[in-house]
Amino acid sequence: MTEETIFSKIIHREIPADIVYQDDLVTAFRDIACKAPTHILIVPNELIPTLNDVTEKDEIMLGRMILVATKIAKREGIAEKGYRLIVNCNRHAGQEVYHLHMHLLGGKPLGPLLGGLPKTLAR
Ligand code: 5GP
Repeated sequence: MTEETIFSKIIHREIPADIVYQDDLVTAFRDIACKAPTHILIVPNELIPTLNDVTEKDEIMLGRMILVATKIAKREGIAEKGYRLIVNCNRHAGQEVYHLHMHLLGGKPLGPLLGGLPKTLAR
């Protein structure tokens, strides 16, 4: 069995967190070190360490993660102005917690990723 993570403990309410959503497949809670006015993590209830470890059996859960993110974005009032969903995978992406999670970030202009598109493409 894969070892428990800090996120497993949050999911099972063994340590405190500001949980904003939970169902049979995913849990969402506010990031402890928020990098935007809205910074919420959406995580599978089952421990999957990284994006590299997902398989076909996770298809419904992965869809749920995105659907839940969009619902929370609307509830947080950030949907219309916009938000960003990020999944970091392994060291080069800076993954710190080895329990798959999606960051939902919004509530302010987030700036371009990777310096933005060349002006000719950015329409
Ligand atoms: P990563 O860099 O792995 O994509 O992101 C991990 C995120 O988890 C970080 O943004 C970090 O602030 C957040 N985090 C780490 N430990 C805890 C915790 O105990 N509680 C909460 N709510 N967030 C955490």
